[in-house]
Amino acid sequence: MTDHQELYVGGEWVRPAGQERLTVRSASTEAIIGSVPAASAADADAAVRAARAVCTDPGGWSAWPPARRADVLDRFADELDRRAEDIITAICRQNGMPLAIARQIEAGSAARLLRYYARLIRELPIEETRPGLLVKETLVRRRPIGVVAAILPWNVPQTLMFAKVAPALAAGCPIIVKPSPETVLDAYLVAEAAEAAGIPRGVLSILPGGRELGAYLVSHPEVDRVAFTGSTEGGRAVAEACARLLRPVSLELGGKSAAIVLDDADLEPDEVRADLFAATLANSGQVCFLGTRVLAPRSRYAEVVELFEQILKSAPVGDPLDERTLIGPMVSARQRDRVQGYIEAGRADGARVVVGGDRVSGPGWFVQPTLFADVDNSARIAQEEIFGPVLSVIPYDADDDAVRIANDSQYGLGGTVWSGDPERALAVASRVQTGTIGINGYAPEPTAPFGGVKASGIGREYGPEGLASYQ
Ligand code: NAD
Repeated sequence: MTDHQELYVGGEWVRPAGQERLTVRSASTEAIIGSVPAASAADADAAVRAARAVCTDPGGWSAWPPARRADVLDRFADELDRRAEDIITAICRQNGMPLAIARQIEAGSAARLLRYYARLIRELPIEETRPGLLVKETLVRRRPIGVVAAILPWNVPQTLMFAKVAPALAAGCPIIVKPSPETVLDAYLVAEAAEAAGIPRGVLSILPGGRELGAYLVSHPEVDRVAFTGSTEGGRAVAEACARLLRPVSLELGGKSAAIVLDDADLEPDEVRADLFAATLANSGQVCFLGTRVLAPRSRYAEVVELFEQILKSAPVGDPLDERTLIGPMVSARQRDRVQGYIEAGRADGARVVVGGDRVSGPGWFVQPTLFADVDNSARIAQEEIFGPVLSVIPYDADDDAVRIANDSQYGLGGTVWSGDPERALAVASRVQTGTIGINGYAPEPTAPFGGVKASGIGREYGPEGLASYQ
C-alpha cells in the first residue's frame, strides 16, 4: 500500500485544501494498492498562482538562459532513471500494463524526452534576425507561451506526461499536470524526482483528480495553454472550452488505425510476428495508435487470419508483473465492460469469432484476446475505438481498395504497411490519411512530430514541433 497525504504544488509538498481522497486499485487483483489526496479547485488555484509567479519573475525559470534550464532537465532525467524500476512497477500494478511491454514503451521514455529537449534548447537559437522585405531586418524571439495545464490519460502515463512536461519546461513554461485518477502513484515518483533534481519553486505541480478538476484547469483564467491527451469525447469538451477562451490547445485523441498487409509481405520470421503484435496489440490493446483493423488481401486472407490466430493464442495472458505476460487486464471494470460490449456488438453484426470472445471471471479486469474475421469496415467494431485486445481482419481486393478502407474512418492517428518492397509500402503509406504511419513496424519516434488528423486530434507533440508549441 502506498498512501500519500500531501500534494506536490509548485514544487512544494503541501496539505491538500480538501478532505477527498482517490483510491487506486490493482487492475489484476482489484485490491486497493494506494491512495492520494484528490486536489480541489483551491489546490489548482495555488498551483496556477505559483506558476504565474514563475512567468513574471525576471530572474525566474522562464527568463533563465536555455542552457541553464537544460542542465536541470538533465538532472531530472538522472533522478527519474534512479527511480525507473519503481515507476515501471507502479504503472504495471495500476493500469495492468505487462512488465515486458512497459520495458519497451514506458521505461526510460521520460528521461529520454527530457534529455532530448535539453539538447534541443542547447542547440536551437531562441532568437534570429531575418533580412526583411519592407524593413532592413526583423528580430524573431521565441518566448515561453506561459502557464501550461496538461491533462493525461492512464494508458501510457509516463511517456504522455513527458511528451508535455519535457518540451514545456525546456521552453521555459511552468506546467501543472493532472494525471488520470487510475495512474497517480507513478506521478508521485515523478514529483519526488523533480524535487531531488532541484526543479525550482512554482515550475511543476502534480494534481490528482478527475474530469471536474481537468475542466477547472482547462478554463482557469490564468492558464495560457492546454495540452490534452485522452478520448475524442473528452477532447471535444476541452476544445469547446478553449475555443470560447481563444486558448491554444493540443489534442491527442483516439484512433482506429489500419495495419495494411500487402500481398508481398513476408510474415513468417518470428521478429515480424513480434512487430505485428507490438503494432496491433501492445498494452493489451490500450494504446491510441494501434492498427486494430488488419487489412488483408483477399489472395492471402486465410493465411493472415491464421497468423493472427496464432499470435493471439500464443500471447501469455495474466499477471502484469510476470515477465512472460504479454496481455494483461483492462485498466478498470468499466473498461472491461466496454470492451466486452464491443465483442458482443461484433458478434451481433455477423463477424466471425476466430479466437476468444468469452467472458473471463475475476479477480482482475481481464478480457480474452479476441480475433474477428469477415468483418465489414462499416461494422461498429471496425469504426469505433475499442481500446482492448480485439482485432478485426478485413479483406480487400487491391492496393487502392486497402487505402480506401484505411481512410474510411473518422480517425487518423497511426497505422502500418507490411510489404517486402519498401518503395511500394511508402507509396501506399503516403495515401493513408493519418498523423504517422510505420513500414513493417511502428514506434512513435521522439524526434519526429506525432499527432492525429480528423477526430484523432489537433497539434503535434515530439520533435522541434513539440517545443515550438510551447513558444
Ligand atoms: P478520457 O478522455 O476519459 O480522460 C483523459 C483525461 O482527461 C483524464 O485525466 C480525465 O480526467 C480528463 N478529462 C476527461 N474529460 C474531461 C473534460 N471534459 N475536461 C477536462 N478533462 C477531462 O480518456 P482515457 O479513458 O483516460 O484515455 C483513453 C483515451 O485516450 C483513448 O481514446 C485513447 O485513444 C486516447 N489516447 C490518445 C493518445 C494520443 O496520443 N493521441 C495517447 C493515449 C491515449
